Amino acid sequence: MVRCDALVVGGGFKSIAAAWGLARQGQSVVLVEQSAKIGGFLSPIHWDGYWIDKGPQFFDNFEAQDVDMMSEMLGPDVMQDIGFEYGSFMAGKLNSDFAIPDWQSLGDDVASNAFQSLFAQRLAASGSSPAFKSLDDVLMFDGGPVLYPHLKKLAKKFVRRDAEEVSPRTASMVSFLGRKKFFDQELSLDLKQSPFMDAFLAAKKVSVDGSRVNLYPKGDSLERVRNALEDALQREGVTVMVEATLAGFDDARGVAETSAGEISYGRVVFGTDIRESERILTGGSTIADCTHVLPEIFHCFVVPADTVAAPYYVVDYDPDHLTSRITNFLNYMGCVGDDGYGVICVEEPIEKDDARWNDPEAELGRIFAEACETGTVSAKNYRQAKSFRIPATYKFPLVGIEGAVDAFSDQMMARFGESIVLPDAYALTRKEAINDLRTLGILV
Ligand SMILES: Cc1cc2nc3c(=O)[nH]c(=O)nc-3n(C[C@H](O)[C@H](O)[C@H](O)COP(=O)(O)OP(=O)(O)OC[C@H]3O[C@@H](n4cnc5c(N)ncnc54)[C@H](O)[C@@H]3O)c2cc1C
Repeated sequence: MVRCDALVVGGGFKSIAAAWGLARQGQSVVLVEQSAKIGGFLSPIHWDGYWIDKGPQFFDNFEAQDVDMMSEMLGPDVMQDIGFEYGSFMAGKLNSDFAIPDWQSLGDDVASNAFQSLFAQRLAASGSSPAFKSLDDVLMFDGGPVLYPHLKKLAKKFVRRDAEEVSPRTASMVSFLGRKKFFDQELSLDLKQSPFMDAFLAAKKVSVDGSRVNLYPKGDSLERVRNALEDALQREGVTVMVEATLAGFDDARGVAETSAGEISYGRVVFGTDIRESERILTGGSTIADCTHVLPEIFHCFVVPADTVAAPYYVVDYDPDHLTSRITNFLNYMGCVGDDGYGVICVEEPIEKDDARWNDPEAELGRIFAEACETGTVSAKNYRQAKSFRIPATYKFPLVGIEGAVDAFSDQMMARFGESIVLPDAYALTRKEAINDLRTLGILV
């Protein structure tokens, strides 16, 4: 039987960082991954000579200690800070400074009315913390009476579920809520001097917080990071078992039954998503039943590099567009061929019962026209295109998820006590994963 201090379940970034952190603390670690390679969602797609990430996949909002950790884990030469270069499209206008909606594009009157109503509403609410039952309550508070109808359409487009059914926790997973752009940069900065207004007004990120960085592998795709992560685990002596599935746990003996045999552990750390963790541990799906998993089609177009705009990605807030975001891989991956061509990727959120899910290339012409309309690409045509179906992208919590998560956590604490670590049920980004592992003492 294989024995270890810590058994890590899953082989995505979070699990790898956990296994690495525990091994650095001198523990013997076994990592179990069900697929043939570790990497999870950061494993890129290989198509026609190009490595294509699944959407923009950055290590963003990293602070100095995170950068040091990445450098220790991957080596000093793998990542670079590429800065923040995001854009948005709304009401026929491309804004190259923000990923959030540019409410000014609806006209100065709308922006100023929206600001005034929000200001009055926040003043009235100051001191009290509003209770939100659903995402719809958040939309009302966040947008005030002027922006609420717009936000409602955006929620439908990006989340693809009625906001009344969706948990308020989803608010941190979408880019159209939070601080708002109503004014030009200078006025925004002036107004943001007041902490009260800073809470809901936006100015360019670069002028607000210079201490955060956005890491991406040097001149390459995430395959370089994936390889470096494999090396990091090997260097620290972590036993990696791929194509291994977990059949069950004999928690009294501290033994996991896997397709690769029994593993005796001191502690088991779940790096898999909370829903998968519940499935493995109980066979149940109470948390999955309270989740809306969003499928997307990633439409990839090969275009001349010199026809692509500067932002790394542009979020498309036109409620009538199928497109949610356009990523210009060639602007930060250095993936421009000798012929001067590279790939842009257009994300389309969708339902699996939509006819296009079974025929994803049916609307390629329309999708490319939308990308052109945003001003992200000016090429008259694309040289080549392919659409990839990604069945699970964002996992949006629905109303009632907290009860299911708490019940599952309590049940597991009663069963395993201190010998189990479950994932943060609501974290989305890699920065949040790192923060979670630090709080748990797994990364120091
Ligand atoms: C379109 C899109 C863009 C994103 N962009 C960013 C971004 O720019 N920056 C950012 O920080 N985050 C981004 N995210 C979020 C980011 O993808 C997640 O933070 C990240 O994938 C989480 O990593 P993970 O290790 O928790 O999970 P995953 O990467 O999903 O890894 C889970 C792993 O566990 C394995 N596994 C599952 N079940 C089992 C089992 N039973 N037994 C063994 N192994 C199992 C899987 O095969 C997989 O390898 C984005 C997400 C999406 C959808």
